Amino acid sequence: MRVLLTGGSGFIAAHCVDYLLQRGHSVVFTVRSDEKGQKILKNHPDQPKDKLSYVIVGDIAKEDAFDEAVKSDPPFEGVLHTASPFHFNVTDPKKDLLDPAIIGTTGILKAVKKSAPTVKRIVITSSFASILNATTHEKTYSERNWNPITEEEAVQNPANAYRASKTFAERAAWDFVEKEKPNFDIATICPPLVLGPVVHYLNSLDTINTSNERVRNMIQGRLKESGLPATGVFIWVDVRDVALAHVKALEVPEAGGKRFFITAGHYSNADIADIIKKDFPDLADKLPSELKSDKPADVYGIDNSRSKEVLGLKYRELKDTVDDTVKSLLEVGA
Ligand code: NDP
Repeated sequence: MRVLLTGGSGFIAAHCVDYLLQRGHSVVFTVRSDEKGQKILKNHPDQPKDKLSYVIVGDIAKEDAFDEAVKSDPPFEGVLHTASPFHFNVTDPKKDLLDPAIIGTTGILKAVKKSAPTVKRIVITSSFASILNATTHEKTYSERNWNPITEEEAVQNPANAYRASKTFAERAAWDFVEKEKPNFDIATICPPLVLGPVVHYLNSLDTINTSNERVRNMIQGRLKESGLPATGVFIWVDVRDVALAHVKALEVPEAGGKRFFITAGHYSNADIADIIKKDFPDLADKLPSELKSDKPADVYGIDNSRSKEVLGLKYRELKDTVDDTVKSLLEVGA
């Protein structure tokens, strides 16, 4: 299948490229600059241009950002839309997070409807942020749940702004399909904290992606004196499982029209630190001496059965993920 992948420079997208190529698809990814595009191509020296290439797409908060990118010869059959800001350096929640998430999502859907009639499926990277109820947790989370966050709450703090950006963007996508009845269907991928090896052209650990920050902070000794921060949301998933979920959601006919809650299970920051201490004894003195899990005994449950039944996912264990993440960070240079 010929696939357009948005946000090619991202942490998750790098693994999507790998799985797409491995599974015989051809990929055009979007990036904001030639420099980023060339770096990614250099990382895949054996791929011919008809298998892997890029197009420049600027700020996705602009309504027409994707209008040209969706046109291709040969034409696209599928789209993976991963591009969306994930950080908490927010000065203006609307401009920094909400607009690029929401307009970026509706923008790609509109552009495909208008100019890419051969596209049959668009897979959108949503998030557990669109499922979570941070005020009153569900007993067991699944695809049935929606974050009830309001527009007023969305601008109260950066965490709310990020969660709202993902919730409103995913809702806008489902609304678009219902109202516009386009030629394509959609599937959405909803992962919680994504950990895993960085294969993305990282020059320095100073610019690590948001979800791997806690592992970077642990191995650099940044938390030794202060102690581990609160875990936050107590569920996680490996980036390779998330990437494979995207590709399977493109390939499997029954995935159309479905949300997928993609999670491996529960964890706490103490679990991660514990694995690092055991498997990387040289790093043990970078970590606090006492590790205590902050995960409550009655933590919410998870139901990830749809992802296993429809996409055939098998989830990696935390130990493997932490080991591979730390190794990849040490290669960049801790
Ligand atoms: P990254 O920050 O590594 O990737 C984000 C990507 O989006 C980059 O390619 C970035 O481009 C692009 N992007 C962001 N804002 C804009 C914009 N205004 N215009 C154009 N491109 C933009 O994060 P992840 O790989 O972790 O995130 C990818 C997706 O996964 C996001 O949709 C995120 O919400 C979602 N997600 C991530 C989770 C995680 O734990 N990592 C958990 C759940 C969901 P550039 O490099 O040029 O900035």
